[in-house]
Amino acid sequence: MNDDTSSQSHRTRLWRDRLIMALLIGATAWVSLNVARLPGEVSAVWVSSGIFVGWLLSRRTELWPGYVGAGFVAELLVRLLSGDGLGLSFALSAFNLLEVLIVAGMVRRLVPDIGNPTRWLGLGGIATSSTLAACAVSGLLASAVVSATSHTPFLTTFLIWYSAHVVGMVIVATLTLVAHRKGIGLSDVPGRRWIFLSDMLLIAVVCAAVFYQSSYPLLFLVYPPLLYGVFRHRFAGVVAGISLLAIVGGVATALGYGPLALVHDSNIIQRTILLQLFVGTACLMSFPVALSMAERARLTARVRESELRYRMLADYSHDVVVRMRADGQRLYVSPSARDILGWEPAELLRPSQDLVHPDDRAVQQQTIASVLASGHPVTAIYRLRHKDGHYVWMEAAARSIPSADGGAAMDIIFAGRDVSQRVAAEQALRESRNELEALARLDSLTGLANRRQFDERLTHALGRPRRQGLAVALMYMDIDHFKQVNDSYGHAAGDEVLRIFGQRLSACVRSGDLVARLGGDEFVVLIEDLSAPATAEMIARKLIESMGEGIAVGDSILHVTTSIGIAYSVHPAVAKTLTAAADAALYAAKKAGRNTWQLLPTDDARGRL
Ligand code: GH3
Ligand code: MG
Repeated sequence: MNDDTSSQSHRTRLWRDRLIMALLIGATAWVSLNVARLPGEVSAVWVSSGIFVGWLLSRRTELWPGYVGAGFVAELLVRLLSGDGLGLSFALSAFNLLEVLIVAGMVRRLVPDIGNPTRWLGLGGIATSSTLAACAVSGLLASAVVSATSHTPFLTTFLIWYSAHVVGMVIVATLTLVAHRKGIGLSDVPGRRWIFLSDMLLIAVVCAAVFYQSSYPLLFLVYPPLLYGVFRHRFAGVVAGISLLAIVGGVATALGYGPLALVHDSNIIQRTILLQLFVGTACLMSFPVALSMAERARLTARVRESELRYRMLADYSHDVVVRMRADGQRLYVSPSARDILGWEPAELLRPSQDLVHPDDRAVQQQTIASVLASGHPVTAIYRLRHKDGHYVWMEAAARSIPSADGGAAMDIIFAGRDVSQRVAAEQALRESRNELEALARLDSLTGLANRRQFDERLTHALGRPRRQGLAVALMYMDIDHFKQVNDSYGHAAGDEVLRIFGQRLSACVRSGDLVARLGGDEFVVLIEDLSAPATAEMIARKLIESMGEGIAVGDSILHVTTSIGIAYSVHPAVAKTLTAAADAALYAAKKAGRNTWQLLPTDDARGRL
């Protein structure tokens, strides 16, 4: 039911549209045939074909047959009513229809999308060339028929037909098309209507002044107000301005007034053709202006749209987007600064707010310098001060863009995100790695340095220069009969003994000396600046003394002793020599009955200390 109603109203609209077109074609054909024609000659003004073409091009191709029928019948009827015979009327109407179909068909085929502003220049070229060709075809056919049926020479008929049709087509088809496609386009802008009317009134007044006097050829005066109207109102200005010019000029010329009446010995037909040429030229001049204005409006809209899109991206970004001049003055701060840094964007536009952490200022300045120098984006991490005082780690990608004030200088865009969590996680990772590293260099049972740390320290000690007369000493210690502790009291008791031994040993040395457990019941003391062997012997004595005290393990008190081998060297070159000497000294102490120490200088140290 609803569909039926809507298709019904669609059909009604279609018929009404065809009727309007047919009436316009009929009326303009009637004016041309009855006002601008001498008996037996073709009309000097022909605008119906222009209306026809403009109408067809603003309708879908499937609908063309109905319009073609309506337009043809309208012209045929008017010709018959105007007194042409049936044959001539039919032939001339058919030639006109052929002309219309050539132009409309070529434009439709070559520029299917005439609504696309980027195709308008191409459209102009195709429309003009197809018009020139189509009017030649219809003109040749019509002149052949007219010269055969009347006394008018072929060439005269052709020239009048051709100029009337070409000019009529160029002006009227374009105006019809524009009026259809763009509408007059004034109703949407309040206040514009009056400006438009006053601009058009100006054109009408100037046209009247030019055409209703026959003393001076002032045609050129028409152009300034016309172009002004086109410049201000674009296509609406073209349609209304050219129509006003055609109407005012046409009526005045028909009445015998105007600059064209100054042409010596001219008749109304010649003057009408001249007026058509003048209006056609005005039309050709106005169109490029309207086209370029439309193109400019389109480009401006695109720029505005892309600017809006950029602005929207920045405004809604989670990142803090900042546009900054090279001297550090912020020009734009996105609203996300509020969420991430606690500052209102407007507060950050004040030059006094320097948010960068004092330790990171160099990083930021270096980033700016590097972006400006290289032109490439640079990423940097630095801290910015939150409004409540704490610092937020930001990772910012910086890039340079042409300055906002259009000079040669460059601005910098920062897009920064809060990476505090990441930085904290990285820091924790670093710390735990350091901790692991430290753990890897400790003995887990006693908490003393392990063999790895001892090796590193020894290598380091041997590598560095030392003061004259000071030696590097190693004291190797091995608990006596430790296996028996394990065997008699268990492994745990053995562990406890190892721990206590480590503590007592540490208590016997100075803070600069390194105490390490090498493994099992073997311990070592590294003394890097031994001034006299007596110092090492004193440590050994103290250790043996302190081991005299029993170790409480569970209910038992254990007594353990240790053997100590001491080696030292003033110019120790190789770690191996020193450790081998300490080992040998320890062996000697064991051999000497345990619970004692042996001192063994390496060769090069002997006799110097
Ligand atoms: P010596 O007087 O010749 O040194 O005799 P010893 O019995 O002490 O012999 P040695 O030093 O060769 O034996 C070390 C023993 O230490 C061997 C092993 O069972 C024991 N041991 C090694 N590492 C550990 C440990 O971490 N805990 C315990 N409880 N015992 C260990
Ligand atoms: Mg032992």
